[in-house]
Amino acid sequence: MLCLGIESTAHTIGIGIVDDKGNILANERSTLTTESGGIHPRKAVEHHHLFYKILLDKALDTAKIKPSDINLIAFSKGPGLGGTLRVAASGARALATKLNIPLVGVNHPVAHIEIGKLTSGFKDPVILYVSGANTQIISLAAGKYRVVGETLDIGVGNFLDAFGRGLGLGFPQGPKIEVLAKQSKTYVELPYTIKGMDFSFSGILTKLERMKNKPEDLCYSTQETIFAILTEASERALAHLNKKELLVTGGVAANKRLGEMLNTMCEARGIKFHQVPKALSGDQGAMIAWLGVLEHKAGRKQTLKETEVDKNWRADEVDVIWN
Ligand code: AMP
Ligand code: MG
Repeated sequence: MLCLGIESTAHTIGIGIVDDKGNILANERSTLTTESGGIHPRKAVEHHHLFYKILLDKALDTAKIKPSDINLIAFSKGPGLGGTLRVAASGARALATKLNIPLVGVNHPVAHIEIGKLTSGFKDPVILYVSGANTQIISLAAGKYRVVGETLDIGVGNFLDAFGRGLGLGFPQGPKIEVLAKQSKTYVELPYTIKGMDFSFSGILTKLERMKNKPEDLCYSTQETIFAILTEASERALAHLNKKELLVTGGVAANKRLGEMLNTMCEARGIKFHQVPKALSGDQGAMIAWLGVLEHKAGRKQTLKETEVDKNWRADEVDVIWN
């Protein structure tokens, strides 16, 4: 069985094709970037419309298949930006109708988790999900991915992007902050905001915006502080839940320093650690296709009404029927 998955929750439009064994046949994507400043949602919609057909053709080409070889269409139903979400939703509906095959709208954070479980082989991990809008510590219990800890305000990616924007960097600012951070070893004190397994970033952002230190020192100190917070919260979750595996996924999981800190903590506790490879940790279509396969094989059926986008759909609202 072949599933084509479409992703367009935010900055990236992606089309991936996977089979039901988890082989990735194609994973094409395009991300809207800027020279400075952030991303305007309308510009993102225009970008996604422009690239949809190009990526679709490219994905079919890379996978060396015809549209009629596809058996299932999956798309990101939410959460995300209303306008960008609708690009994948309408593309998916049109394709499924034209090919007369089933359609499944899947939850984006759960797709990040499931592709991570595929690449790690982990059965029951604690998941540190670090993306633009979301930052959560998650664990499966009684049929749902329970959020045991999370940011009380902004997501860690959005925090990094907003901080980087203030330094004059363009989107995505996270990777540029990582480069600047490597050029310093001077730690300047920042607020350290964690309560149990919850944490917050907006106070740190306010403080950073008033500081006049060298950008390299601010980037270094920011990474050391926020990644220590995330490592501490993950460690607490592993201890309380008595789990033996930690998975880090989402766009910010591409960061080497975050991986290093989590790895050091896991080694000290005898925990298996997996940082999802960069090609599969950020937003892309293969993870959407893979979750589509899992849900479809488990018998998920959706009416057309149920394939409407849902901007605020949390991971912990999904019934995990495929486990
Ligand atoms: P996602 O929404 O899961 O695609 O994640 C996007 C977020 O990941 C954006 O906020 C990026 O700035 C951030 N990001 C991407 N690469 C890195 C990196 N190497 N270090 C820190 N943040 C990153
Ligand atoms: Mg994401």
